Amino acid sequence: MSDTGAQPATTPSRPIVLVVDDSPLVHRLLKARLRDEPVDLRHATSGSEALEFIYANDVATVLLDLGMPGMDGFEVLRDLGEKEATTHIPIIVLSGQQESQDKVMAFGLGAMDYITKPFDLSELRARMRSALRIHRLVRMLNERAQLDGLTGLWNRSHLDERMDQLISSAERSDRPFSVALFDLDHFKSINDNYGHPAGDAALQGAAELISGAVRNADVACRYGGEEFAVLMPETTPDKAQALCDRIRESIAERHWPSHPDRKITVSIGVCGSEGATGLAPEHWLAQADAALYRAKEGGRNRVVVTKVGKDGPKLAAAS
Ligand SMILES: [Mg+2]
Repeated sequence: MSDTGAQPATTPSRPIVLVVDDSPLVHRLLKARLRDEPVDLRHATSGSEALEFIYANDVATVLLDLGMPGMDGFEVLRDLGEKEATTHIPIIVLSGQQESQDKVMAFGLGAMDYITKPFDLSELRARMRSALRIHRLVRMLNERAQLDGLTGLWNRSHLDERMDQLISSAERSDRPFSVALFDLDHFKSINDNYGHPAGDAALQGAAELISGAVRNADVACRYGGEEFAVLMPETTPDKAQALCDRIRESIAERHWPSHPDRKITVSIGVCGSEGATGLAPEHWLAQADAALYRAKEGGRNRVVVTKVGKDGPKLAAAS
């Protein structure tokens, strides 16, 4: 799953369909005949070119020739099927080979469909649409599995996945990155005094304020229980502190219909860096967690920031 911001990703309007064939004639033919389809048609003329493109782009369906010099279609199928990131991409084999054993082998390697050349174009179109439909459904299911049911924010498994991606990209490019952990103060007493529906409403209300405040590139998650996490790429510790402080204030000011006299506050720990640190993802979370602990110790309803860099962590002023 790529292209995921603070809110669940939306499917791009024109899905990419990659045609892989060593024959330029096939590319010309398909380009002309699929002109009116709402797809972004791309082409590769070899197996290795195809794999390179697929690993770098969000491909929705592959139309794959089997007989190609060098890496053939079977090898492409095998490679895509072995990797978690590509195993769900529907592949329609376009082949001049009519042998049933080729079909059996292609399906065995994960092909979704098989069309023999010369192919009927209206049939190809219909099969391509059906492959795209399946791709949409799989993507939707994957996305749902990474959402938190109560708050609609991303869940912990999505957080872990994005954390790894965003930190390695920040480290590689020596760019700022910050992560914040939020914990609602005295949450148990909300549940105890006003009942679990009030506790759920508090989680939903806080989630709404968090997701309303973060920017498109940020990733807001429910971390577990009454904890939330926000990943902030391209964000220095100072900017992260300002953003978290705005969220902290908006939660403290919010009116809660089921307990109008009882406000809810949040403690926030931030770990942020101006550039590369050499720290692994779990260390970022541990530093943010330690900062959160200090925010709690310091009296709650506050933001504590730890700045990390090549020379290790440094505690910044609380706000
Ligand atoms: Mg060929």
